Amino acid sequence: MREQRFALALHGGAGDLARYRGLGRLEEAEAFLGALLDTMTSRLRNGDVALDVAIAAVEAMEDCGLFHAGRGSSPTSNGMIELDASIMHGRDRTAGAIAVARTLKNPIRVANYVMQSTPNVFLAGEEVDALADVAGSDTVGPDYFIPCDDVGAWLPSSGTVGAVVMDTHGDIVAATSTGGTLRKRAGRIGDTPVIGAGTYADNAVGAVSCTGVGEYFLRTSAASRIIARMQYLNEEPLAASAAVLTEIGAMGGFGGMIVLDRLGRVAMPYNTSGMYRASIDAEGTRIVGSCDL
Ligand code: ASP
Repeated sequence: MREQRFALALHGGAGDLARYRGLGRLEEAEAFLGALLDTMTSRLRNGDVALDVAIAAVEAMEDCGLFHAGRGSSPTSNGMIELDASIMHGRDRTAGAIAVARTLKNPIRVANYVMQSTPNVFLAGEEVDALADVAGSDTVGPDYFIPCDDVGAWLPSSGTVGAVVMDTHGDIVAATSTGGTLRKRAGRIGDTPVIGAGTYADNAVGAVSCTGVGEYFLRTSAASRIIARMQYLNEEPLAASAAVLTEIGAMGGFGGMIVLDRLGRVAMPYNTSGMYRASIDAEGTRIVGSCDL
């Protein structure tokens, strides 16, 4: 019998990473992502399911404080933390998403709760924070958050985290979590929690998790259009994602995405100076990177 294959890609956000050169920060993020990739690779090799691996990977990135998600999130224009997250299971295309959560340690767990334990797809506001207990997320106060990026002026930057996973059973999952764009307007919601914009998964095709200026990913329905290109035009992950990213760039947007298809081929394009990323494809090719310029 042919060995069942798996694939996995992670991102910690795309942005102007070139400005971190020489600060040790890119190396720290790459070391973290490389170790996380290896842990999750062993889990998948041992038959662990895509859903658990995607949640565990995103949770680790939410907790590490290196990216603009979970602990590393920065406050909005009103000084509040507002977290968004989403998850989609490709087997039956169930999905869960949350927006404007303020006290969740692990937004991805609550998005997963919405997917698995409610008839809904998308919840926002105080009711989301109230789900922490049942969803298995700790709640945290404002002191917990240590913004990974306290910039003096607005700089193009982002740091959403995401995972796309295909397990040895053929299931595919995408998960994404963010503190939003830096210094976002209070109440603003980007692409991350919007199924079809920031996140999408379909076992028959593949999975996508996006990062960047969410408004452009919303306006282009980025994740679902990458999936549609792979499905209907038979494009590989790189061709499909590069085409959508080119449109986003032409509109003035920037960012990137991680994409895999059902054959376990992986693409991680971006149009910024870097994207924190790590992947292993079905052939076993391992990539870890951040800023190449
Ligand atoms: N896409 C996210 C948003 O617009 C931000 C990011 O990727 O950093 O909220």
